[in-house]
Amino acid sequence: MAKRPDIDKLRAALGQLTLAQAKQLHAELGEMVRAREQHSVEPKSVQAKGREIVETQRIDERLYQLERVRCGKAGCKCAGTDGELHGPYWYAYWREDGRLKSRYVGKRLRRIEGE
Ligand SMILES: [Zn+2]
Repeated sequence: MAKRPDIDKLRAALGQLTLAQAKQLHAELGEMVRAREQHSVEPKSVQAKGREIVETQRIDERLYQLERVRCGKAGCKCAGTDGELHGPYWYAYWREDGRLKSRYVGKRLRRIEGE
């Protein structure tokens, strides 16, 4: 885990900037915030019916969730409100161009790269 920058030290450094530098940083920070918001996935946005979320982890810009799932096949042990759900399995969620994407990861958590 990378150490988080000290916000007080950052503020002190910001106080030393010229107006031109501050304006440039302001614009860059605005862009960065918009880009992060585009990519971020909140746990509540991926809650689906018939799934039970066991654990949630955020790695980079992606949300990883350990979920117990209902496969939807008739007659399966998971069917019905009292059915025994499958898993738990890890799923990855992220956004691309603002659209929510998901990918099955497996029984063990590992980082998903690219598509
Ligand atoms: Zn099933």
